[in-house]
Formats: sequence, structure tokens, C-alpha cells
Amino acid sequence: MNHYDVIVIGGGTSGMMAAIHAGLNGAKVLLLEKNTKLGRKLILTGGGRCNVTNRSTREDLIEHIPGNGKFLYSVLDQFDPQDIVDFFQSRGVLLKEEDHGRMFPITDSARTIRDCLIHEMQHYSIKMITGEPVEEILYDEIEGHVKGVRTSKASYTAKAVIIASGGKAYPRTGSTGDGYLWARQAGHTLTDFYATEVPLLSNDPFIKDKSLQGVSLRDVNVKVFDEQGKTIVAHQMDMIFTHFGYSGPAILRCSGHVNLYLKESQQKRVHLAVDLVPHSSIEDLKANAEDQREKQVDNILRQWLPDKLSHLIQTQVGVKPKFAYKQVNHSIQEALWHRIKHFPLTVYGSQPIEKGFVTGGGVNLKEITPQTMESKQMKGLYFCGEVIDINGYTGGYNITAAFATGAVAGQHAAWASLSS
Ligand SMILES: Cc1cc2nc3c(=O)[nH]c(=O)nc-3n(C[C@H](O)[C@H](O)[C@H](O)COP(=O)(O)OP(=O)(O)OC[C@H]3O[C@@H](n4cnc5c(N)ncnc54)[C@H](O)[C@@H]3O)c2cc1C
Repeated sequence: MNHYDVIVIGGGTSGMMAAIHAGLNGAKVLLLEKNTKLGRKLILTGGGRCNVTNRSTREDLIEHIPGNGKFLYSVLDQFDPQDIVDFFQSRGVLLKEEDHGRMFPITDSARTIRDCLIHEMQHYSIKMITGEPVEEILYDEIEGHVKGVRTSKASYTAKAVIIASGGKAYPRTGSTGDGYLWARQAGHTLTDFYATEVPLLSNDPFIKDKSLQGVSLRDVNVKVFDEQGKTIVAHQMDMIFTHFGYSGPAILRCSGHVNLYLKESQQKRVHLAVDLVPHSSIEDLKANAEDQREKQVDNILRQWLPDKLSHLIQTQVGVKPKFAYKQVNHSIQEALWHRIKHFPLTVYGSQPIEKGFVTGGGVNLKEITPQTMESKQMKGLYFCGEVIDINGYTGGYNITAAFATGAVAGQHAAWASLSS
């Protein structure tokens, strides 16, 4: 019997949640996954601990989903971070809250989350087929509705099909962008793709000569500027100098904004500046140094900066080696403090989407009904997860978007299929 009420394509973060919600609303559900195992990307998240969701206010959540987070208001009215917490805790998976509202299973293992989702799918008698890629979605183009899917091995029919096949980032986890073609065949448009949550590339001299490679900075403020010098975005977190440019949490968060700006402005490079000591004003830094004016500049700066970066900055502004602070002339002192508060970086791009954590761009949201996640172009076709044009920062925001859109798509697909 190859007929189902709902077919879910993709057994990842959003697909498993969609299948469960279709099942708990009474639908006979088939979930098709091309990998031999379910949730391969999910188990990589949060450093292998699975950052299940983020316990923040609705506004904060939307703000941390810079790629069209506002589209999620109707979805979050139906399934929000508290529902995600309740979903797992009511099924015996205890969660704990860490810094910045990030929620993890107390086992510190993403497998706990994946096992819970698989167990729930078994509970609702969802048919799970792995190792069977979907090759085509079958549409009745004259009537404008879905008919089913064809895989490498068989055809299956259903009144509702949910595309939960993920984006293009980290293709080795199975998300190779297959859903975009099926969306276009249904009449959807795609917004331009760009990499987000990805390391940035630079030709700055200290990157090219690798003199700062491996230097990491804690809790610095990274700002990205447009060509008028206006701040596009700023993030205060850690960062690291690499052999090709910059990485670390603050850089990853800025990366989507950098790529969007490069694309939209047609500029060849973007200017960034790092406040290396964001908790102190220039006046505080000067006063601190004045109190130790007999000491070498090197020794004074050591309280704030790694030696390699301190030496580079001293050379850049012209502090002579081994000079005591009192020997440095006033204009050089001023240049020194200015550079510490505004250390300039230049970036010309990022690593490709495949190396990023999250895909920017995707199925155009104007063509999806936000309350149900149903396509406006093809009846019975639903979307959830990263395949749509939504991207957030890591920290549980994408997973929340995937679980929430999955739950809503699953529920509405079941209702529609059972009532027609
Ligand atoms: C290393 C890493 C760490 C991350 N950490 C975080 C984090 O800490 N916090 C956060 O919020 N986000 C994080 N993310 C992002 C987050 O994991 C994703 O946004 C989210 O998992 C997307 O869910 P999805 O269901 O849309 O796609 P996926 O989870 O990628 O699932 C898509 C599934 O569809 C399957 N599929 C694709 N094509 C077919 C086909 N033709 N037939 C059948 N099946 C198919 C794939 O094999 C895959 O299993 C991280 C991502 C990565 C790569």
C-alpha cells in the first residue's frame, strides 16, 4: 500500500517534527530520508550537544533570526520555544538552560534529542524509510495540487507533501538543496543564495603573512561598516585570526550581513573594526597607562591584548620597542588607543555556502502562507526548515525555526489531507 495522508521529504530537524505533528493529528504519514540515518545535521548542532531551542522573548528570538525572522510570528503563535521545551520534557527528556538562553538536553548529547524524535515517530506509527532519496514530486499541473512523490525505488501517493529537505550548507549531512528544484517546478521563485554563519576571507597583511594565525580574542566588539562608515551590524563575542581571514562566534554572526552587503552594494570589500577592550573607554585605558607610566608599553598592554597583536599594533602606530609609556610622544599614544578601540580589518568575501552552518536565501516567503506553511502556488504542498528563505544565528535559533515550522506544517498538512 503506497498511499499516505501526508508524505514528509527529509528526516532532519524540521522533517521529524513535521511527521510527528502530522501523526499526532491522526494522519497516516510516510517520512522519506535519503541518508541511512535520520537527523545527521541535528546531531552536529551545539557542538554535538544539540542546542534544542533558545529561551528568549519573542522579540529577542526574531531579532536573532536576521534572515526574515518576522515571517515566523504566525508560526510562533502556534508553536514557540516553550512548546519545544514542553515537547521534550513531557517525553522524559530533561533540558537545561545555559548562557544566552541556550537550551540543551541534560545528557549533553544530541542523540538524546534524535532518539526522542524517532521514538515519537514510532509511537504514531509513522512509516520511516531511510536510504531512499526522493527524485521527483508528482504534481497535477492542470488542477494545481500535489499527487505524491517518486523515489529511487518506488512511487508513493498523498494529498499533502511536506518539503523538509534543508538548505545547501554542510551537504555531507544530506542537505544538498534538492528541495529548490521541486519548489521551482511547483511555480515558486527562489531568493538569491548567500553563505551565513561562515568564516570571512581577508588579504590584510597580517593575514597574508600569517603573523596572527591562531590568535584568539575574548569578548571583543566586531563592527561591520558600509561605504559611508555607517554601522551595518555589531556583535560582541569571541573571534579568531586564521590562515585565510577571520572566524569565531562574533565573525560568524557578522558573516551573513557582510555577504548580503557585498552582493547588494557591488563593493569589492567591506571594512570592519574591532573594539579590543569594549568594557573600557579610551579615557579609562589612558588613565590606567598613566598610573604605570614608568613601565614598558608592552607590559601595560599585556593586561588586555595577546602579545602578537600588541606587538603588531605597536609597530603599526610607531611605538619603539622597549619604550616606557612616558617615553611615547602624545600623538603616538593617541594613535595607540584609537587603534585598540578601532582595530581595522578588511574582508573581501567568505568561505562558500557549503562551509557555512546555515543557508541564506531559499524559497520565497511571499509564496508561502505563514499560518499554515502551505504553498500559495500548489495545493497540498508545504515547506518547513532551512529550505525556505529564513536564516538565524547559531544558538538554537535555526533549530527553533525548523521545529516550529515543522510542527505547523505537519499539523496543517494533516488537517487539510484528512478533511479533503
Ligand atoms: C555543524 C552545524 C552546527 C549547527 N549548529 C546550530 C546551532 O547550534 N543552533 C542552531 O540554531 N542551528 C545550528 N545549525 C543549523 C541547523 O542545524 C539547521 O538550520 C537545521 O538543522 C535545519 O533543519 P532542516 O530540517 O531544514 O534541514 P536538515 O536538518 O538539514 O534536514 C534535511 C534532511 O533532508 C534530507 N534530504 C535532502 N534531500 C533529500 C531527498 N532528495 N530525499 C530524501 N531526503 C532528502 C537530508 O538528508 C536531511 O536529512 C547548525 C548547522 C551545522 C551544519
